[in-house]
Amino acid sequence: MTYGVLNRAMEERKKVSLSQAMQHALKLAREASSAGEVPVGAMVLSPEGYVLSVARNQVEGDYDGSAHAELLAMRRAAAVLGSARLVGCTLIVSLEPCPMCAAAISHFRVGRLVYGAYDPKGGAVDHGPRLFQRNYCLHKPEEVISGLCEREASALLTHFFQRRRSGTIASITDVSSKS
Ligand SMILES: [Zn+2]
Repeated sequence: MTYGVLNRAMEERKKVSLSQAMQHALKLAREASSAGEVPVGAMVLSPEGYVLSVARNQVEGDYDGSAHAELLAMRRAAAVLGSARLVGCTLIVSLEPCPMCAAAISHFRVGRLVYGAYDPKGGAVDHGPRLFQRNYCLHKPEEVISGLCEREASALLTHFFQRRRSGTIASITDVSSKS
């Protein structure tokens, strides 16, 4: 389904606003939730604002602890561009990136990061290591927009973990694992 959305967006050469992109990331997050994954969705836009890639968490489905939405979206965007770097591109993700993904954002040279829900426990942008504020982080996004559609994004996560705790959905891995 994710690939279908991507193909359609690519075919239509769709240009989207940041809030449209976040709404789409939230839609992908809901898809993730339905599949038993932590609800996180992501999208990469070209410097001109066209959709390059979309992804959602696939940790459980892929048996891959690193299959976080934003990491998958960056890999797919790089493949679309035929470039290991996403210079000038915007990454939209529904949850504050973790240390692994924040480091990947730096390695991929993402120009702008936009995220939804804050993650005081697992986040690495505005919480925890605050990676982009460190001198050892050589490539930081030129711009970070935090908390876009924050209420909706965090409600999705809260609801998911409530359901998981209540046993409505199976607890597959440790509850602290996130995006
Ligand atoms: Zn991550």
